Amino acid sequence: MNMHEEKDALYRCIEEGAKEIKRLSAQKGEPFTFCVVTFGCQMNARDSEKLKGVLLSMGCVETESEDADICVYNTCTVRENANNKVYGRLGLLKKYKEKNPLMKIALCGCMMQEEEVVRTLKESYPFVDLIFGTHNLYRFPALLLPVLRDDEKVTELWDKAEGSVEDLPIRRTYSFKSGVNIMFGCNNFCSYCIVPYVRGRERSREPEEILTEIKALAKDGVKEIMLLGQNVNSYGRGVKSACTFPELLSEAAKVEGIERVRFMTSHPKDLSDELIEAMANSPKVCRHLHLPLQSGSDRLLELMNRHYTKAQYLSLVERLRERIPDIALTTDLIVGFPGETEEDFSETLDVVKRVVFDNAFTFQYSPRRKTPAEKLPGRLSEEVMRDRFDRLLALVKEGAAAQAKKKEGQTEEVLVESINRQDETLLTGRLSNNTLVHFKGEPALIGQVVSVRLDKSMGFYYLGEMV
Ligand code: SF4
Repeated sequence: MNMHEEKDALYRCIEEGAKEIKRLSAQKGEPFTFCVVTFGCQMNARDSEKLKGVLLSMGCVETESEDADICVYNTCTVRENANNKVYGRLGLLKKYKEKNPLMKIALCGCMMQEEEVVRTLKESYPFVDLIFGTHNLYRFPALLLPVLRDDEKVTELWDKAEGSVEDLPIRRTYSFKSGVNIMFGCNNFCSYCIVPYVRGRERSREPEEILTEIKALAKDGVKEIMLLGQNVNSYGRGVKSACTFPELLSEAAKVEGIERVRFMTSHPKDLSDELIEAMANSPKVCRHLHLPLQSGSDRLLELMNRHYTKAQYLSLVERLRERIPDIALTTDLIVGFPGETEEDFSETLDVVKRVVFDNAFTFQYSPRRKTPAEKLPGRLSEEVMRDRFDRLLALVKEGAAAQAKKKEGQTEEVLVESINRQDETLLTGRLSNNTLVHFKGEPALIGQVVSVRLDKSMGFYYLGEMV
């Protein structure tokens, strides 16, 4: 079956699914509800929007509560505690299902790509109805149908991607901004990372297909897009019409109606001068770059299979700031990689001191099955990891506060995203450099770009006033 035939078949499954939902709602005497829970990264958040789109097209009603008729966990497995969180929460779903025999429980995402996990689920969680992975996520309508119609237990996992149907129904979390997948998978095999084993080999979408999607989003009122890939810098390998990531970024920024373009994630080993130029030359490309360092120690960067050195990372930062002076830099940092000495760790602290990141996501090393680092000697104790984690976080916070302070008193463009969760009299918006701002304003402004004076920096966010 080619992709067009597959798409038609999936739409037929949605129609059949809608009939089943109608029957089940009648049986229940109320609309059939669903809840999709997203664990992990922006790629997963985008995938969850696709799952919601299918369930809404089948006539289900969304609810925030996991005590729903259909509960879908879109899982992450980047660290062990992500797996434990899912196992822990399945116990609660079991109780909901004992109360509601019509309930269907589905699990998908990266964690399901681990054979051992699926074995455990089958043995210890037999009440789970549907298990599928990252490569066949788009087949959700076809996999869910027999579960709804015949109460079947369905498991379908592919160890590699077999193409993908992109334009199925989707329910965006925000009407004014959207993620856009430009590629899937990763070929970098950083020694601590499980992503290449659960998301497969890199495959880039055709540039025309991506630009068509962006134009449709702009027509639909989207102002901000986030180009998504595990390593966007290697975009373009294997596409029919040759296109590099800097070229794609420049084209995306030209789409009428799109006011802001973000992208994630860039690997330092192949961030090119062309990309720096493309960012510098397009004011629509947001002034924020997430550039994972992981460690400042050349010895560990080699063991991590990262393919750059401390000096190369620092010179990249220098070139970026020279060409785009107002760029905000954020990063990922791992403490406690096997064998990490105090000297190695002080190299990481040194880079953080010299770069002064706008923010950093800091993690304690978590051994992942099948990854080379899992077999490395020299595991550190929880205590040592905790101590280094706290010292690193304190330094990151200090730097972030210093960076944020620089913009105090300035007036900046802000995309209004929501009503503030803690204080309903305030709105929350985002600067081009990805920092949040809270300020007074009418909810009708949500989705608009407004000017806000940044009155007070609070470390990782600002308090401001609309001007
Ligand atoms: S670049 Fe490295 S850390 Fe990032 S997803 Fe790929 S293997 Fe994992």
